[in-house]
Amino acid sequence: MFLAQEIIRKKRNGEALSRQEIEFFVKGITDHSVSEGQIAALGMTVFFNDMNMDERIALTTAMRDSGTVLNWDSLGLNGPVVDKHSTGGVGDVTSLMLGPMIAACGGYVPMISGRGLGHTGGTLDKFDAIPGYQTEPDSETFRKVVKEVGVAIIGQTGDLVPADKRFYSIRDNTATVESISLITASILSKKLAAGLDALAMDVKVGSGAFMPTYEASEELARSITAVANGAGTKTTALLTDMNQVLASCAGNALEVREAVNFLTGAYRNPRLYEVTMALCSEMLVLGGLAADEADATAKLNAVLDNGAAAERFGRMVSGLGGPADFVEAFDKYLPQAKIIRPVYADAMGFAHSMDTRGLGLAVVTLGGGRRKPGDALDYSVGLSQVCALGDRIDQDKPLAVVHAQSEDDFAAAANAVKQAITVADSAPEQYPQVYRKIRAADL
Ligand code: URA
Repeated sequence: MFLAQEIIRKKRNGEALSRQEIEFFVKGITDHSVSEGQIAALGMTVFFNDMNMDERIALTTAMRDSGTVLNWDSLGLNGPVVDKHSTGGVGDVTSLMLGPMIAACGGYVPMISGRGLGHTGGTLDKFDAIPGYQTEPDSETFRKVVKEVGVAIIGQTGDLVPADKRFYSIRDNTATVESISLITASILSKKLAAGLDALAMDVKVGSGAFMPTYEASEELARSITAVANGAGTKTTALLTDMNQVLASCAGNALEVREAVNFLTGAYRNPRLYEVTMALCSEMLVLGGLAADEADATAKLNAVLDNGAAAERFGRMVSGLGGPADFVEAFDKYLPQAKIIRPVYADAMGFAHSMDTRGLGLAVVTLGGGRRKPGDALDYSVGLSQVCALGDRIDQDKPLAVVHAQSEDDFAAAANAVKQAITVADSAPEQYPQVYRKIRAADL
């Protein structure tokens, strides 16, 4: 039997906690036998004194096991259960293509995704833009779609990782979100509760990233790779660029359009293609569906080119209650904003740098994200044709096209776009799309 205050004291004094102590504390978070003040105090001591990898693994697995852990054994699946998670970005629509691509290659992707957070978009909000699509189906429907289609992307169910729900909301208002140990446990407990064989983690770097510096992103990537593999799920973390909007657009319905166009081959933004392929390749190799990256790339290009990935997307949408002809007729179903108008720069030159966070906030301000929890979204608004860094900007080439519902909203967003994108006489330094891959063997 332990005492919560003694566990806090031990961590406060800089000592490592045992697995049993961590399990006791997490159980207390879940059953409310540990008070809010004690949880806040532990969060702050971890923020200052940190946790070693064994403690992080113990915290992650204890939190994972605080609620339901999905188990796919009874479905008799003939392939690995794999998933991807990203730390969040702007115009990061990767999941919408990645899930169907992996399913078409023989994997099973039960993706439990989230809503927009801060300046970043949320996969769930994008699916809510599709009429009829149920982001909170009952577990029978979820399992049926995973089994029959190979991919189902839905929202978090009530009983998954209750410890994180309570711990995160306390961290959020006690200034303890920014701890690599706590972020690692929070993200991974939720992902690993989906019962995965393998995971690819996309840790963003740059002006639209959640972590403030490249070094911090790499530290998080290393922590996630070590802890997830330590918890028994084969995992690789990729450090990918978020110094510009990843897709050509940002905004819920706009991104769904871009995802369908990507899958059908109508248009593939090169940055989005590179990041999606890198994550998918890693998933296929980790899941034993491809021998190496070259083999994975060939398999993925095949399912894009022969329409199999687009077909999986369509079946997932209809399996979860959306229109049966969504892939063919998405324009009929997706809402459009009243004002769709380009924004031009004041000076000509090259798109030189992007405050990607600022562009994400512009989408939020247009109504595409939430100012406070529970706000209703306008799925039609956002930015399209966002220029790429290095593009030549002139009177014919806008910085972006704003999709707004009123003239006032348009003016505010146009101003935000001009503030966020600098135009200079010279072309900027080009960033790689994928900075590094951190595999278990690299640690
Ligand atoms: N996202 C999470 O889910 N948890 C964190 O701690 C930070 C970001």
